[in-house]
Amino acid sequence: MDFDIERLASILTPYVVLRKTADVVSVSHALAARTGMGKKEIRGFLDANRTVLDSLNSRNHTVSLPSKDRQGFDCAFTTTIINDTEIIAFSETGQPVYDDDAACIPETLVTMARYSPSAYLIVENGIIVYANDAFHKLIMHEPSDLMGSQLIRIISRQSREGFIRACDKGIQDPEGTIPPGDLMLTSAGGRRVFVSMKGGWLKRDKGNLLWMVLHDVTEQVTLMRKIREQEEQFSDLFDVSPIGLLYVNPRGVITSCNAFVSNLMGYAREEIQGSLFTKFVAPHEEQRLREEFQGLFVEGSEIHRRECVLRTREGDDLTIEYDVQVISRKKRIIQALMVFSDITGKKALEMELLEKNAEMEKTLWEMAEVKDALEARAGELNRATEELKVLNERLNQLSITDGLTEIYNHRHFQDRLSEEVERVQRSKDSVVSLLILDIDDFKHFNDTYGHQCGDMVLKQLAGILRNSVRSIDVLARYGGEEFAVILPNAATEEAANVAERICEAVRSTPFSFGEGTSVKVTVSIGVGSLARGQGEKSELIRKADNALYAAKAKWKDRVEVWEED
Ligand code: GH3
Ligand code: MG
Ligand code: MG
Repeated sequence: MDFDIERLASILTPYVVLRKTADVVSVSHALAARTGMGKKEIRGFLDANRTVLDSLNSRNHTVSLPSKDRQGFDCAFTTTIINDTEIIAFSETGQPVYDDDAACIPETLVTMARYSPSAYLIVENGIIVYANDAFHKLIMHEPSDLMGSQLIRIISRQSREGFIRACDKGIQDPEGTIPPGDLMLTSAGGRRVFVSMKGGWLKRDKGNLLWMVLHDVTEQVTLMRKIREQEEQFSDLFDVSPIGLLYVNPRGVITSCNAFVSNLMGYAREEIQGSLFTKFVAPHEEQRLREEFQGLFVEGSEIHRRECVLRTREGDDLTIEYDVQVISRKKRIIQALMVFSDITGKKALEMELLEKNAEMEKTLWEMAEVKDALEARAGELNRATEELKVLNERLNQLSITDGLTEIYNHRHFQDRLSEEVERVQRSKDSVVSLLILDIDDFKHFNDTYGHQCGDMVLKQLAGILRNSVRSIDVLARYGGEEFAVILPNAATEEAANVAERICEAVRSTPFSFGEGTSVKVTVSIGVGSLARGQGEKSELIRKADNALYAAKAKWKDRVEVWEED
């Protein structure tokens, strides 16, 4: 914009100077007339007063300008820079540059302004000549401060260029209409007041009047600024979020995504935005994702914590966990927001854990099988041990049993007799008796009936003996056709009674073998007893043996008790 100095003079003040860099470009007629200075002198003056002028627009600063009459006059000044042009506007203090007659504000305008709830301002040559109460309230200036001061000084620096341009347009407009716009004013307390402005020029022969109606829009502007800030914050958040954020429209096209997505996928944002979402999905997931999104836009449902596999530019597959929420405007779903996190690492760990678990389970199974096998083996061993025990017992039994008669054999007899004798020798009042029994004339029997029949007699005789003794007594086959009975705790007399009973039993028993054959058999029995201190086992055997010998000598079939010679 090439500024017309005289138009600027009617907008700002009559005293205007334009400077480009240090050069004074133009000086308004009024200022030249009042000071009598041309461009050159003005430049010289500005250079000389640089320090004052550089304090720019400070409200309380004034500068003293020289005048034709060499008296000089005090001016307030305002500096506005538009592009590379510096506009300096001076206004005489104490002696307003306007005169009431000249201002000559139309009565209707003033009446309208006075009763209007809106802020009204009337300006002549840049100087405020009328402001209604609403305007005073708006910027809190005292009317005395305001009247006669430069309008440009209460317009904030940021708004000055716009204001000057709008007013300039209004001057050039045949109707004098100023394009409406927003302004920022500075209130008495330094507070910023945002206003929307409507105005125009009332064209007159001598100087134009500028009228303005202002509406306080501070609240709206503050609100808008907050919204803008929030939008910026949201946009920052969107960009720096360490999660994937992308918007998808109902056609499945990504309309926007954040930096996380582009970094993760290895595509520039521009490549992602505008592309179909399925382009970035692993091929085996495409169909499912497409259906999922279609469903989402039809039903308006939500998706929570699902997983899918994306494929990066490099061809790597990433597992993501995602939520999708539809966004509606006026009951119409316009897009969907997908929020996701990369769980590839987590997934790999999970897989590793699962494999480890499976391995462990396998090992546990194997261990269980080994355990079962070991238990089975242990069972077998137990059974075998039990069987062995039984066999051992049987073997033991066999080793102490006489094969023919099934009573104890001679060896076991000897062992038991030793034990009994030892027991007797240990305790004071104890006694043991021994019977030795021999079949009478058995050699003859064998000769008569044969050896086999003799064996049968031996077996039957064992049976009779078993029935004749106590359970604690020990019955054994002593030799060929000789038997022995150990009677623990039985004294001689009791033992003799037992022997007699046996003798009688044998005598009265018909021994049978073969058909219808029945034969009488008799036995001779020798009885011996031993108490403590009466000698060894051999002594007891000797006693019973001797008694038997005596019985044989006395016609047999009898009991003989050993007696001391
Ligand atoms: P004595 O009355 O004096 O005892 O006359 P004895 O014939 O019985 O004479 P002795 O005791 O000396 O003879 C034992 C006989 O017993 C000899 C043998 O034929 C017989 N004998 C020994 N052992 C067995 C056997 O196991 N079976 C059979 N059938 N006979 C036997
Ligand atoms: Mg004999
Ligand atoms: Mg005999």
